[in-house]
Amino acid sequence: MDKASEVLIIKNIIKEVSQKIRKQDFLTYFKKVSLVNISDTSISLGFISSFAKDNISHKFSNEIKEAVKIVVPTIENIVYIVDSEIDNPSNYKVIDCIKEYKDIHTKKRREEIEENNNNDGIEIKVINEKYRFDNFIVGPSNQLASAACEAVARKPWNAYNPLYIYWDVWLGKTHLLQATGNAIKSRFKDKKVIYTTADKFTTDYVNSIKNKTTDKLREKYRNIDVIVIDDVQFIAWRKQTQEELYNIFNIMYESNKQIILSWDRPARELTELEPRLRSRFEWWIIVDIWEPDYETRLAILQEKARAKEFIIPQEVAEFIAYNTWANVRELEWILNQIIAEYELHNTPPTIDNVASRMNKLSITDNILWNRRIKNKIKTYEELVEAVSIHFWINKKDLLWDDRRKENMIPRQVAMYLLKNNMNYTFERIWNIFSGRNHSAVLYSCKKLETIIKKNQNLFYEINVLRDKLGI
Ligand code: ADP
Ligand code: MG
Repeated sequence: MDKASEVLIIKNIIKEVSQKIRKQDFLTYFKKVSLVNISDTSISLGFISSFAKDNISHKFSNEIKEAVKIVVPTIENIVYIVDSEIDNPSNYKVIDCIKEYKDIHTKKRREEIEENNNNDGIEIKVINEKYRFDNFIVGPSNQLASAACEAVARKPWNAYNPLYIYWDVWLGKTHLLQATGNAIKSRFKDKKVIYTTADKFTTDYVNSIKNKTTDKLREKYRNIDVIVIDDVQFIAWRKQTQEELYNIFNIMYESNKQIILSWDRPARELTELEPRLRSRFEWWIIVDIWEPDYETRLAILQEKARAKEFIIPQEVAEFIAYNTWANVRELEWILNQIIAEYELHNTPPTIDNVASRMNKLSITDNILWNRRIKNKIKTYEELVEAVSIHFWINKKDLLWDDRRKENMIPRQVAMYLLKNNMNYTFERIWNIFSGRNHSAVLYSCKKLETIIKKNQNLFYEINVLRDKLGI
């Protein structure tokens, strides 16, 4: 086989793979790949290190198999090896995956835009398929907004129209908006859905003035069934664009088209907005999103980790969710740091290293443990009281070894917390819990540890309790 064909083969395989797996995964795992050997039925792919080779062959073997089948259908056997020649500059069969990815996608995006433009001067942003309802975590902070969006996705044109979502940045507005667009697109195949940002809208509008195609622009919107406009705050101060948007909204509204908007502030605070447009917004269906609570943060973090096929220990996830609250991007960002740390140094996340990383990155500043320290309990009496209240049992039953099953777990929890979180010695604990000896206490603590490894609910409950007690 000649050199050019070999290069073409490996290039095309990488191109196919890059389209089969998530961008983030591709960029993280596929740094360089080489073609080491190829015959009619077998191909050997080379990787930088055994770490990269193992990870890739473990996680993406199906995608690679499919990609290879597309490019060279006769191949049956794929061999993964560490290629010591991969960094050799004279090795021409090496693909720099990141560069390749950028080339492919700039080209693809250009084609998509050209296709969408239809020569009528409107650039439409392509909806990103990674934003869906099924990977959007719903909690009290965004329940209303997501319910409204789902209702619109089920029955556009008559549920909530226009729908307007507002709140601060990074709380999931774009995600929800695009999920709505995606859901409508897949349910109503013949309908035209567009997602754009107000910034883009302004550019289109300015271009249409330049090219004297403003009529065409309006006509285009008249033919659209659903319009999703993100970040409308960008048109603040742009009076003429606002005027045009107002006209277009009127056209669309009157012909019963679905309009969905997002904004990072409440409408009444948009003092720089045209009064006419503002009053239009004010009577729309408005739903807000606010900061996710602890449970939602935890669920989001777990969902993000799952999407990246990264296993994050429960206690670490809880620690992160507990110590971040500003917005979701912060959670994602920490997760990416942890993954990078793992990929690069093979260091798995623990509470200690995550805490020091969060501190280092000054995300948490001094607030790291503040909330816990505030109401910290000090004595075992307080603990016993709290545990008995939490589990609805008598203090006496908690302290006495009566061997009834329903009292066993609460008793073990109390001992475990005294030992692990209040630094009591086994002797002291044994004195508190009458009828027990040193080894029985030790046994109880160990036993509970094995139980909570399997029983996530109990583990969670213990953490809730610890939270309340500040220990
Ligand atoms: P906004 O548009 O409000 O600034 P984004 O939609 O861009 O926020 O959200 C920032 C990131 O956080 C995105 O990656 C998004 O997927 C994620 N995100 C936000 N809220 C959630 C949620 N409830 N569930 C899952 N991911 C979320
Ligand atoms: Mg956004």
